[in-house]
Amino acid sequence: MSKFRLHDLLKQLKHGKQAAPVSGSRRRIPAWSLWSGTAVAVVLLFIVIGISISPVARTVISHEEWLSPELSKANKVESKSIRIHRGDHAVSILQRLGFSLSESRQIVIAATDRYNLKDIRTGKVFKRVDSAESTDVYYNINEMAQLHLQRQIGQQVWTCNMEARTLLTRQRVVTGKIVDSLFGAADEAGMDQRTTMNLVDIFAWDIDFARDMRRGDSFSVVYEEHFGEDGRILDTTILAAEFVNQGNHFRAVRYEKSDGTSSYYTPDGKSMRKAYLKAPVKFSRISSRFQLSRKHPILGYTRAHRGVDYAASSGTPIHAVGDGYISFIGWKHGFGRFILITHNNRNHSTAYAHMRAFARGLKRGDRVKQGQVIGYVGMSGLATGPHLHFEFRVRGVAVNPLTVKHPPARPIPAKERDRFMQQTAPLLVELNKLQSPAAWG
Ligand SMILES: [Zn+2]
Repeated sequence: MSKFRLHDLLKQLKHGKQAAPVSGSRRRIPAWSLWSGTAVAVVLLFIVIGISISPVARTVISHEEWLSPELSKANKVESKSIRIHRGDHAVSILQRLGFSLSESRQIVIAATDRYNLKDIRTGKVFKRVDSAESTDVYYNINEMAQLHLQRQIGQQVWTCNMEARTLLTRQRVVTGKIVDSLFGAADEAGMDQRTTMNLVDIFAWDIDFARDMRRGDSFSVVYEEHFGEDGRILDTTILAAEFVNQGNHFRAVRYEKSDGTSSYYTPDGKSMRKAYLKAPVKFSRISSRFQLSRKHPILGYTRAHRGVDYAASSGTPIHAVGDGYISFIGWKHGFGRFILITHNNRNHSTAYAHMRAFARGLKRGDRVKQGQVIGYVGMSGLATGPHLHFEFRVRGVAVNPLTVKHPPARPIPAKERDRFMQQTAPLLVELNKLQSPAAWG
């Protein structure tokens, strides 16, 4: 059960944003971008059709959006592209695009204020577009920006703009219920692997995905897919998400602060980041299958055992769950290769045992950051198979991590609070829509 929605596609198709327009230059839509826009539209349309025929998805598109009258105006346009090879120079490429030597030089000079065309890179593309009104040259600097040079027909002068490249964004809303594995449920819902991993990362301080995920857990995700001109997904951004783990609801919303940085917060404005990660090993496609295929996946905390074991294949990276320093690193009896980290709260330490190897160069006294790789899963010492034995210690005594009182997460700054509420309210509305009444009953 997933639905998905198309968002502002055409708005972006129509307006190639100009990052730094030259004053006096006319803002116009390059004809070739309309063509490539059409191509993207067609590709997206196929994606959309593909999704809509799958039984688990529902699609809403307004057809008017696709059939903009402006798209059909782009006729009588000739274009030619040349890919840059080793040893090519801008002038020689422009000549191959049909410009005279002197005009080629003129074009390079016209660009200098915006971009030095001596810096062109192998593999990038120069494109010449001739239409009834102008001759245009494009050079794609990176995924976000392109150089646009233009000469009006009958004129001699070349003008130059730096422009944002056409990037299409589509918003999707997806829900899933875990039957066999998180990735299975994500696949079913049509959510790609990258977004699934990002979802796991957002809740890494709240949910131990490696041990605590259960059949019946569910998720809802509102996210954006960003497409390049060729219709491929470049990236995705999760805007809001909910994960229900063993009946506990966790929610996160993305907030972009006024300084432009963004991170995830609870709906009431507390950072999702906390002093300790829930698990010292990252959840992966492989471990998910392994864990969920068993009733009692791994030996958990008991009085006798005093720790938590993570079954993982040999060589799986082990991450420090919190900031601190290495207070022990070396061989320790049955623990084999063993690391003890003392955390910033001096009462707290975490222990990692049975490693195959330590992270290169790590030594006693070194400071480590949360998430830093400190070693690799193995079976050194007394171990019957590769696994990580992990302990959370309070004043040196191993405790059940669930019972540890953690410092509260940092709230959003007071001066950002109103802005936060405004920005995140519509996302929460989306999430609420996905909840069946029973889920909140
Ligand atoms: Zn153990």
